[in-house]
Amino acid sequence: MSGADLIAAHGLDRIGLKGRLSADQPLSSVTWFRVGGPAELLFQPADVEDLALFLRHLPEAVPVLPIGLGSNLLVRDGGLEGVVVRLSARGFGAISVEGETMRVGAAVPDKRLAEAAAEAGLGGFAFYAGIPGGIGGALRMNAGAHGAETVEVVRELQAVTRKGEILRMPASDMGYSYRHSAAPHDMIFTEAVFAGEPRERERIRAEMDAVNEHREKAQPIREKTGGSTFKNPPGHSAWKLIDEAGCRGLQIGGARMSDMHCNFMINTGEASAEDLERLGETVRARVLDTSGISLEWEIKRLGRFATGAGIEPFLGAAGGAASKESASHG
Ligand SMILES: Cc1cc2nc3c(=O)[nH]c(=O)nc-3n(C[C@H](O)[C@H](O)[C@H](O)COP(=O)(O)OP(=O)(O)OC[C@H]3O[C@@H](n4cnc5c(N)ncnc54)[C@H](O)[C@@H]3O)c2cc1C
Repeated sequence: MSGADLIAAHGLDRIGLKGRLSADQPLSSVTWFRVGGPAELLFQPADVEDLALFLRHLPEAVPVLPIGLGSNLLVRDGGLEGVVVRLSARGFGAISVEGETMRVGAAVPDKRLAEAAAEAGLGGFAFYAGIPGGIGGALRMNAGAHGAETVEVVRELQAVTRKGEILRMPASDMGYSYRHSAAPHDMIFTEAVFAGEPRERERIRAEMDAVNEHREKAQPIREKTGGSTFKNPPGHSAWKLIDEAGCRGLQIGGARMSDMHCNFMINTGEASAEDLERLGETVRARVLDTSGISLEWEIKRLGRFATGAGIEPFLGAAGGAASKESASHG
């Protein structure tokens, strides 16, 4: 179905939405990799009530997926079925400081939260200075770096369910673990309350500078990338396993494992999403061969393959050939 058909079929232009509906929107312009086919329908709600109204009217069979700043996404070349929800800075970009807590909209970039915390003299947020995503993405996957992670600073979340209910819940309900939360994939976080501890501003600034210096030296932050491609398996570093498997600098089409940090995949210019995913599965196969360890994707792969053919996990290598990778969301 096209986006225009979705709007017409469900009367979405007649329910009094304040936000913006756009049909057949290319997602390559919003992902850091600069690849990906179109979303059938993109909805940018004006505020949380607008989002809830939209979801209550949209039949549950229509898939919904929130995206943030696109820094952890590999959207496949065939695009996304259903609706992509993107929170605007205008409706979801506020930060308010209340004593030692901060109420933060889900569209706020992580770096802005780090800045606001430094300004307010609240410690515990410097790690966000180096993460290029937004708070919605951080809440979803327990973003972290330099030994700190989101679960340590978030206290309460506001979210809208697929049925359009607005919920408030404690962070302890999120089932957080390393780069993971147990929240339903179509739950949309709209705001969260964070808590910090009072700390001198100079000390916080020094922590943020150290984070940024490390990034400049160790990561290809100016490339088209998605951050760490694979999670660190317990007791191992993904980059070391990749290096030992001879995959530093490995290239397929326009997709390459970075020479600087070999757990980062980069689009060297003209990569397709398929090149990037094929490269990732080739690396997983080689690492499985050399170490016996199955790397798990940290980057979220979403949508349909352009060819409809799909890419097998581990490209058919031992241990991974049994199940064919789903070509739908997630
Ligand atoms: C150069 C570089 C360095 C990076 N370094 C790190 C790092 O050190 N540590 C780290 O953890 N990550 C890192 N990342 C990955 C990425 O920045 C984080 O995962 C970030 O939290 C993703 O946020 P986003 O807004 O870009 O989300 P997106 O990439 O847009 O989406 C990621 C996931 O979050 C979900 N999501 C987004 N917004 C919402 C919302 N409002 N409600 C519910 N779900 C939502 C999406 O559905 C998707 O599943 C890096 C990426 C790059 C490119």
